[in-house]
Amino acid sequence: MSEQKTNELVRKIFEAYLENKNLRKTPERFAILEEIYSRNDHFDVETLYIHMKNQKYRVSRATVYNTLELLVSCDLVTKHQFGKNMAQFEKSYGYRQHDHVICIECGKVVEFCDPRIHQIQTMVGDLLKFDVKHHSLNLYGFCSDCSMARKVSESAASAEKIEEIKS
Ligand SMILES: [Zn+2]
Ligand SMILES: [Zn+2]
Repeated sequence: MSEQKTNELVRKIFEAYLENKNLRKTPERFAILEEIYSRNDHFDVETLYIHMKNQKYRVSRATVYNTLELLVSCDLVTKHQFGKNMAQFEKSYGYRQHDHVICIECGKVVEFCDPRIHQIQTMVGDLLKFDVKHHSLNLYGFCSDCSMARKVSESAASAEKIEEIKS
């Protein structure tokens, strides 16, 4: 699906949702939606708010926050809780199914796609007679940069110890 087509569709979905809930269709809300669908990353409320402000949008932190919650309710945005970090969000409409690997040191998030996970979901659903709708799988560890940095500081620490023993 082309980006423009996706943008038109998500706008229509959001419009219908707001109408249905008797909520105001403010330009700010649509600007936030558009901004989210122009990004390809995971972001928290603060990052999005600052980005909107830098682009000279007149939005308040509260509007960004509320709009995000509305977009999560109508399935246009997915909310993640990666470890102890602030909640992170990402667009979800027309976006491929994926899971995440998160660095516990720097908070970097990498997406991966493995069809076997979907197979497990179907199999477990069949087995336990559950109509499984979705799943969330997060893997935590150190990214290559952070493992490298850890190795360097570990070897520096052990070198210091050797120095101590010698003296
Ligand atoms: Zn890292
Ligand atoms: Zn993701």
